[in-house]
Amino acid sequence: MSHAKIVVIGAGVAGLTTALLLAKKRHHVTVVAKHMPGDYDIQYTSPWAGANFFPFSTSEDDPARRWERNTHPELWRLATQVPESGIHVQDARLYVMEGLPTPGFMEGLMSEDPWFKNLVHGFRVLEKPELPKDAVSGTAFKSVCINTAIYLPFLLSQCLRYRVAFRRGIVNHVADAANMHVAAKKADLVVNCSGLMACKLGGVMDSKLIPARGQIVVVRNEAPAMYTTSAVVEGDEEMTYIMMRAAGGGTILGGCYQKGNWSPEIDPNLANRIMKRCVDICPELAGGKGVEGLDIIRHSVGLRPWREGGARVESELIDGVKVVHNYGAAGWGYQASYGMSEDTVALVEESLKPQAKL
Ligand SMILES: Cc1cc2nc3c(=O)[nH]c(=O)nc-3n(C[C@H](O)[C@H](O)[C@H](O)COP(=O)(O)OP(=O)(O)OC[C@H]3O[C@@H](n4cnc5c(N)ncnc54)[C@H](O)[C@@H]3O)c2cc1C
Repeated sequence: MSHAKIVVIGAGVAGLTTALLLAKKRHHVTVVAKHMPGDYDIQYTSPWAGANFFPFSTSEDDPARRWERNTHPELWRLATQVPESGIHVQDARLYVMEGLPTPGFMEGLMSEDPWFKNLVHGFRVLEKPELPKDAVSGTAFKSVCINTAIYLPFLLSQCLRYRVAFRRGIVNHVADAANMHVAAKKADLVVNCSGLMACKLGGVMDSKLIPARGQIVVVRNEAPAMYTTSAVVEGDEEMTYIMMRAAGGGTILGGCYQKGNWSPEIDPNLANRIMKRCVDICPELAGGKGVEGLDIIRHSVGLRPWREGGARVESELIDGVKVVHNYGAAGWGYQASYGMSEDTVALVEESLKPQAKL
C-alpha cells in the first residue's frame, strides 16, 4: 500500500489515537482541529473525562464489544509499562444497590459473571463483609484510570514523534478538510473525528448525535480505590463514581448522564448530591467527616457524544472526497479508543485501494 496524505479532523482522544495509528503505518497525517490538548471548552469532550475502563457494550454483536476488548491490552500496557502516559492501575469496586433497579446500560458492567471477567485482571465477586451499607452484592477487578491532562499531551507527543503535523483550524464542510494537508494541495482522504460537533459539521450534520451531559467534582482527597454503584435514588440521569487520577491529578467524583442537555453551567445542587453520594459510598475519602471533609479543586462539565444506534466508524464519499468517520462513543471514548481507531485505519486502507467502492 502506498503511503497516503490524510487529514484527520479533531484532536480529541479519537483523532489523536487515529492519527497515531495511521502515522505508525507511515501515512502522512495532518491533524486539523478547533481545540487541542491544553484547551478546556464545552465543545471539546476529551479533557473532561475521568477516565477509566468500565465496559458498557451491550452484547457480543455490539461493535463496542470488539472495540473495548481490543483497547484494554494497550491501556493496560501503558498503565504498567509507560508511566509518562499518565495512566495507572486502580482497584475497582462495583456495588449493586438494594431496592434500586439497575438501569439497562449498567447491567453488563454490574454482572457477577460479566463478559470481560477474563479480559481484566483480578476479577472476583465481593464477600458480604466487603460491601457498604445499602449494597446487596458487588464485584472487584483491576481497572485503569487515565489522567487526561497528561494522556492527551502524551498522545500528541507520540504523534509528533511519528511526524504528524498539527494545524489549528475550523472546518466548515468535511470535504474542505481535504484542502488543509500541510504537504499536498488535496489530501487522499479525510478522517472525521469531530466528536459531538459532527452534528454541526457541513456534509455530516449527524442528527443522531446528542450530548449526554456529565458533571463532576475534582477533589484533592485521595481515594483508596475506584468505585461505582449500580443506581442512585435520583434516577437514571444521575450516577455515582469515584476514581483517582494518576500523578497527583486529583480524584474525580461523578456524576450524571443527562441526554439532550447542552448546558455548560455548573448545577450546584447536583454537585452537592454527587459529593454526598460519594462520601456515603466511601467515607474514607473525606476522613469520615462527610462532605465537609472534601477539598474541592474544581467543578466541571463535559458533553459526551451520545449517538442513537451507537458510534459511527464508517466510510463514505462526500462531494468527491473519501471520508472515514470515527465519532460518537458517548461515555466510552477512551476505553474503546484503540479498537475504534484500528477499525478506522482498516477502513482508510480499504478506501484507498483503487477499486474501492465508496
Ligand atoms: C464527565 C465525563 C466522563 C467520562 N468518562 C469516561 C470514562 O471514564 N471512560 C471513557 O472511556 N470515556 C469517558 N468519557 C467519554 C469520553 O470523554 C468521550 O467519548 C471522548 O472524549 C470523545 O472524544 P472525541 O475525540 O470523539 O471528541 P472530542 O474530545 O470532543 O474531540 C473533538 C475534536 O474535534 C474538533 N472539532 C470538532 N468540530 C470541528 C470543526 N468543525 N473543525 C475543526 N475541528 C473540529 C474539536 O476541536 C476537537 O479537537 C467521559 C466523558 C465525560 C464528559
